[in-house]
Amino acid sequence: MIIVMQSSSTPEDTQRVIDRVEALGYQARPDTGEERTVIGVIGDDRPIDPDQIRSLQGVDKVMPILAPYKLASRDFRPKNTIIKVLESTFGGTEIPVMAGPCSVEDRDSTFAIAETLQSFGVKILRGGAFKPRTSPYSFQGLGEPGLQILAEVRERYGMAVVTEVMTSEEVGLCDEYVDILQIGTRNMQNYRLLEAVGKTRTPVLLKRGMSGTIEELLLAAEYILAGGNEQVMICERGIRTYETATRSTFDVNAVPVLKLLTHLPVIVDPSHATGRRDLVDPISRAAVAAGADGLIIEVHADPAAAISDGAQSLPPEQFAELLKSVDRVAQAVDRSLDLATVTA
Ligand code: PEP
Ligand code: MN
Repeated sequence: MIIVMQSSSTPEDTQRVIDRVEALGYQARPDTGEERTVIGVIGDDRPIDPDQIRSLQGVDKVMPILAPYKLASRDFRPKNTIIKVLESTFGGTEIPVMAGPCSVEDRDSTFAIAETLQSFGVKILRGGAFKPRTSPYSFQGLGEPGLQILAEVRERYGMAVVTEVMTSEEVGLCDEYVDILQIGTRNMQNYRLLEAVGKTRTPVLLKRGMSGTIEELLLAAEYILAGGNEQVMICERGIRTYETATRSTFDVNAVPVLKLLTHLPVIVDPSHATGRRDLVDPISRAAVAAGADGLIIEVHADPAAAISDGAQSLPPEQFAELLKSVDRVAQAVDRSLDLATVTA
């Protein structure tokens, strides 16, 4: 349930409500907005009698949150959550673009692609150091040396970095090096991992499981939020359907549906959603037209030589064209891509 305080209520009134909720054995999450304070009750609150809370001083309304996720719900927080990552802001008017290779392959190529992307105005570099590969015989990533390369890029170019963390044991390690922790599609329902990133205060990019429903995705986000980490971004990266013409099926519906259901920023990954370089530009445009708050795109200096996901990686020149065409769509929906102004 959520408890809405009267606009005239005092901090003492709020504290009294929190104390009561906690005495009943629940966690209370106050959220002080511009107009009023809302207190989220965490846990299975069905046994609480709403009248008992309603009668407390300063309480305006007690409302059930019907969705099974609470903290992720727009009912709990009507305004968009804004997440700041170095120079970028997710959830506002501007649309950040995260770009880079699927895998961190080596130091030189990572520095080179970072420099190229920065020259296009990109502020966040993506790159996997721990790779969840379908086959155990495929390249599994460089591991910690890959994280060190990302950290060096961060230092050298001032770009933020995002990387995937695959196990709860590795959360602390990854958290030391990067600005955004990515949870991959294969791990959306790895609850111990979700709890582990929930204990950090680092922004999390939570990808939709390839067979995950929107409700399951938001419940996965709830695990992270319930742990106290409020900085969660939801990522639509394509789902598995009967269609084989593309690697996954981009669920464009998910974008406006998520925007209605949650206050969290909604990101789209058109690279994994299609698996095809020629579709990344049109699907990025569709994503932005549908209301996406960010994009994450695979770019490689020489896609044919990429160790992973070359078929869906864009060469830099094509990515530069994409930025222009997607920005036109962003402008049409009163937004813009969040790119740094580059002085040549
Ligand atoms: C990736 O970002 O390279 C990746 C493995 O993504 P996903 O988990 O969406 O397949
Ligand atoms: Mn990839």
